[in-house]
Amino acid sequence: MFLNPDLHCHSTVSDGWLTPAEVVRRAAANGVDLLALTDHDEVGGIDEAGAAARECGIALVPGVEISVTFRDETIHVVGLGIDHRNVRLLDGLAQVRSGREQRAQAMSDALDAVGLHGVLDGARRFARNPALVGRAHFARHIVASGLMPDVATVFRYYLARGKPGFVPHVWARIDDAVGWIRAAGGVAVIAHPGRYRLSASDMEALFDSFTAGGGEALEVVSGAHAESDVLRFASVARRRGLLASRASDFHGSGESPVDLGRCDPLPPDLVPVWSRLGAIVPSAGSHP
Ligand code: AMP
Ligand code: MN
Ligand code: MN
Ligand code: MN
Repeated sequence: MFLNPDLHCHSTVSDGWLTPAEVVRRAAANGVDLLALTDHDEVGGIDEAGAAARECGIALVPGVEISVTFRDETIHVVGLGIDHRNVRLLDGLAQVRSGREQRAQAMSDALDAVGLHGVLDGARRFARNPALVGRAHFARHIVASGLMPDVATVFRYYLARGKPGFVPHVWARIDDAVGWIRAAGGVAVIAHPGRYRLSASDMEALFDSFTAGGGEALEVVSGAHAESDVLRFASVARRRGLLASRASDFHGSGESPVDLGRCDPLPPDLVPVWSRLGAIVPSAGSHP
């Protein structure tokens, strides 16, 4: 029985501020007893996080957050309880990552055209993993250069869809992402559904494709959700019989609205996704 699970967060292996070990120590200090590290398109932090979790006495769920394109919108699919050495998963993730370098260059060129010069070098300085330069690193560099007050404002003016630094990019197909997660023994979860700009019918089509491919869970409670999102997606989980997840999506203090383990509880009638993870979390059974 877990009292404070947090099943989605980031480290320096993607666009978090803390190393995998630091993330685990902060989670443990905040009272998290079941933590999933879910870096974008990368599993390189899992071993370090697992070692830190053993030292702290908390359970670590190996995870990942895969970037997917569905009907021109970017969707994030979290995999929980994956075997992070599974070759099909690793090949798939390498394929997803491979477009990032070109995209980063195109973003830099687009920002150059509106008067922000040399931002790629700046973004690279914020990316501890050179294979994973993303929009958050661009945003941090632009804040550090004094041009904008915070990362959210940079997204609003430059990096969100439709803004000058936004470069459309085709990520993985949803059925591929779910397939890789399942091949690696994991449970697939739709991350922060409240963030997607999809019509009601496209949202239903997303859930249809997701469940047809074997996806099983939905982030109902997310650091990216308002109270109204929680109510809306709790009812989706009930109607579709999906497992429910609870996740901060923590990237760093000062940047993330919700700290590790500080999410609201799940609505009590939902079936928690962690009820499916017990057998595949090595240290879960030995937790005091
Ligand atoms: P990318 O995978 O390079 O497109 O970057 C996506 C990441 O950018 C997300 O995982 C967040 O960390 C960050 N992000 C996206 N939208 C926003 C926003 N509106 N405000 C702050 N960070 C954001
Ligand atoms: Mn991120
Ligand atoms: Mn995400
Ligand atoms: Mn995330």
